[in-house]
Amino acid sequence: MNASMFDLGGKVAVVTGCNTGLGAAIAQALARAGCDIAGVNRSSPEQTAADVRAAGRRYLDLRADLSSTAPIPGIVRDTVQAYGRIDILVNNAGIIRRNDALDFTEEDWDAVLEVNLKSVFFLSQAVARQFIAQDGPGKIINIASMLSFQGGIRVPSYTAAKSGVLGLTRLLANEWAARCINVNAIAPGYIETNNTAALRGDARRSQEILERIPAGRWGVPEDLAGPAVFLASAASDYLHGHTLAVDGGWLAR
Ligand code: NAD
Repeated sequence: MNASMFDLGGKVAVVTGCNTGLGAAIAQALARAGCDIAGVNRSSPEQTAADVRAAGRRYLDLRADLSSTAPIPGIVRDTVQAYGRIDILVNNAGIIRRNDALDFTEEDWDAVLEVNLKSVFFLSQAVARQFIAQDGPGKIINIASMLSFQGGIRVPSYTAAKSGVLGLTRLLANEWAARCINVNAIAPGYIETNNTAALRGDARRSQEILERIPAGRWGVPEDLAGPAVFLASAASDYLHGHTLAVDGGWLAR
């Protein structure tokens, strides 16, 4: 194993939801490893754009709402127009809605499934078609969750979507591995982002979670940097359909 196996020099990565949290850290890590970034966001990704440029790479600012599949053809078209190709897709954008299962609304069900699962599939499909049109390899990294493995509580649509992401990662790997497209996922543990602000605001839940993490701390977005670069790089060329927990040991308990 040598460091050049992790070199992403000259590669192009599309990262969804990279204006904050895990997506921002992943975009920055991929840029530091050599990628130009096409960021897909609903709002301004100013800090991410600055971080990518500070790493000496280009940043393409694409605006799209992934609660519908309508923007997907444009994301691929605009990235290819700007950079000539796509090598890596990170399906990171996601939302969460919390309520008791007895009270959970159809609106909260559909909203989460649209962003966290449906757009993940159709953007993967569109980008895989581009990989094949380029006659090249490709890497797809889906962001899963502890709730791809566990049931969770008060987040029925999120658990359904993230469990679906794990299954979809396997299915797409089965269909595309022979085409030199690696489809894998990262399942973050409990990481300090907007997504977990409500949990961290609940002193009792926050303490319960902390006590269960063998590493003895919540994760920070930068904890995903190494795993993301690994799954985007040649170092993981024979890895297919795997969901890698980056969880401070949470699942080992
Ligand atoms: P976050 O809320 O900080 O970031 C979510 C990102 O998704 C933002 O950039 C947001 O703008 C984007 N997004 C949401 N809806 C969108 C839409 N309709 N169109 C386009 N972009 C949209 O939270 P985060 O923790 O950084 O979440 C990133 C991913 O990691 C999500 O898929 C989340 O489910 C997952 N995750 C987070 C944790 C954690 O502990 N933070 C744990 C497991 C999984």
